[in-house]
Amino acid sequence: MAGRTACLVLLAGAAAIASGSQGDREPVYRDCLLRCEERNCSGGALKHFRSRQPIYMNLAGWTCRDDCKYECMWVTVGLYLQEGHKVPQFHGKWPFSRFLCFQEPASAVASFLNGLANLVMLCRYRTSVPASSPMYPTCVVFAWVSLNAWFWSTVFHTRDTDLTEKMDYFCASSVILHSVYLCCVRTVGLQHPAVASAVRALLLLMLTAHVSYLSLVRFDYGYNMAVNVAMGLVNAAWWLAWCLRNQRLPHVHKCVAVVLLLQGLSLLELLDFPPLFWVLDAHAIWHISTIPVHVLFFSFLEDDSLYLLKESEGKVKLD
Ligand SMILES: [Zn+2]
Repeated sequence: MAGRTACLVLLAGAAAIASGSQGDREPVYRDCLLRCEERNCSGGALKHFRSRQPIYMNLAGWTCRDDCKYECMWVTVGLYLQEGHKVPQFHGKWPFSRFLCFQEPASAVASFLNGLANLVMLCRYRTSVPASSPMYPTCVVFAWVSLNAWFWSTVFHTRDTDLTEKMDYFCASSVILHSVYLCCVRTVGLQHPAVASAVRALLLLMLTAHVSYLSLVRFDYGYNMAVNVAMGLVNAAWWLAWCLRNQRLPHVHKCVAVVLLLQGLSLLELLDFPPLFWVLDAHAIWHISTIPVHVLFFSFLEDDSLYLLKESEGKVKLD
C-alpha cells in the first residue's frame, strides 16, 4: 500500500512538471495534440502509424503520442515566430530538432564522446600504471562510475522518459560523490584507511538517502541541483587545498586546471537560450566543453599514481 501511495505521489509530481511550460499550456498546442491523437493514435490509424514507423524509432520507444507532441510543438513554434514572439519551452525543454531517434542530438553525441574519452583514458591508465599503485583501484572504479553516468546521459538525451531522466540525475550524483571519495582517499585515506572507510560509508548513505528521497518522496529539481552544487564545491575546495599544500609536485598544475575549468565551465549551465539551429543549447555546449577535461584529469591521475608508486617503493624521498 505504501508503495502504491508513493507511485501516485510520483506520478502527480511528474504530471505537474510535465505540463509546466508556456508552449504546452498554449491552447493551439493542446488543440493540435488532441486532434493529432484522435486522427492517428487509435484503431486502424495507429496500426498504419506502427507499420510506417522506422524500427529504430520503435526501439527507442517513440510512441504515436510522442510523434504528435513533436509535430504540434513545431506548429506552435512556427506560430510564435510568425507573430514575433519569443520561442517558448515545452514540458520544461526548448524545442530541439530530432535526428533519427535522437531527441537532443548534440547533447547525446557530446555525452557519448565524454564516455569515450573516459574509456580511452581508462585503458591508457591501466596500461601505464601498475595495479600495485596505491590509488589504482580507486581510480579504476572512478572511471567505471563515470562511464556508467555518461552511458545514462547518452540514453537520456537520446530519449527523455521518467526513468532515463532519473538514471541520468542519479548517476551524475554518484560521480560527484565518488569524486569526493577519490579526493579523500588521495589526501587522507592513504595514511588513514579507517577515515577513508568511514567517509565511503557516509557518502554511500548520502547517495542512498538522496536517491530514495527523489524517487519515493518527491522529484525536486531545485533540491537535486543544490545538493550537487554543494558536493561539487566541497570536492573543488578539498582538491584545491591539497594542491596548495603540494605545489612542489610537478603534476599538481593539471589538478588545479581541472578544478578551475570544471567550476568555470559549469557557469555555462546558467545560460539559457533557445538552441542554435534548433540543436545547440547551453547544456550541449557544456557537455562538449567537458570532453577534454576528462583527458586532463586522467593524465593527472596517471602521473600521480606513478609518483605514489615510486614513493611507496622508496625511490622518492618521503617528506
Ligand atoms: Zn546532460
